[in-house]
Amino acid sequence: MIAEEIHRITDALPTGVRLVAVSKFHPSDAIREAYAAGQCIFGESHAQELQHKHEELSDLTDLEWHFIGHLQTNKVKYIAPYVSLIHAVDSERLLAEIDRQGAKAGRTLRCLLQLHVAAEETKFGFTPEEALAFLEGGSWQSMTHVQLVGAMAMASHTDDEVRIRSDFHRARQFFEQAKRDYCPSFSELSMGMTDDWHIAVDEGATLIRIGTQIFGERQY
Ligand SMILES: *Cc1c(COP(=O)(O)O)cnc(C)c1O
Repeated sequence: MIAEEIHRITDALPTGVRLVAVSKFHPSDAIREAYAAGQCIFGESHAQELQHKHEELSDLTDLEWHFIGHLQTNKVKYIAPYVSLIHAVDSERLLAEIDRQGAKAGRTLRCLLQLHVAAEETKFGFTPEEALAFLEGGSWQSMTHVQLVGAMAMASHTDDEVRIRSDFHRARQFFEQAKRDYCPSFSELSMGMTDDWHIAVDEGATLIRIGTQIFGERQY
């Protein structure tokens, strides 16, 4: 099942688009099964759960951990030594802490800015305008242990494909403008989940984050 779904997804992805298998609330055995099917990138959204799985799966040396959820500043230190991409940087304060913990761990931590493009109210994420203002401000340029490599977005929670497509399109437009004006090294646009990844890929995602389609309903 797990292997079949992974192949179903990866076979459909254009070159340059990678799958993040979202394994939150699924046991390490499920991750081993996915890994055996060739999947190397896994996404988790709770620092403690990630820490636990990182230890349990330490024998899988080429496994890449992505932190995809809301990250509290006081949790950064736990994941800084090994995390390979942080998807949801939603404040300058969080980025500064990631920089600090990156320095402590002797690593440069790759990060994405979380964009708020969906219809729902949320306290997380920058609107595209806020994100551009943040990049314009330039404080991130003196942070030597973080590297901003792109953006992450979630579309509105709706069946309306037109709305979903337009949310992803706004994220893509931000990505292009930021890359052109501030961050030539931007390379990643993380968007698309179980219900909307086909649209996200159409709109230029380079990373899709899929949980339910691969692992089924979350288990705990
Ligand atoms: C849980 C989660 C996903 C995966 O969602 P599915 O609908 O299960 O594919 C993707 N992105 C984020 C940020 C998540 O928290």
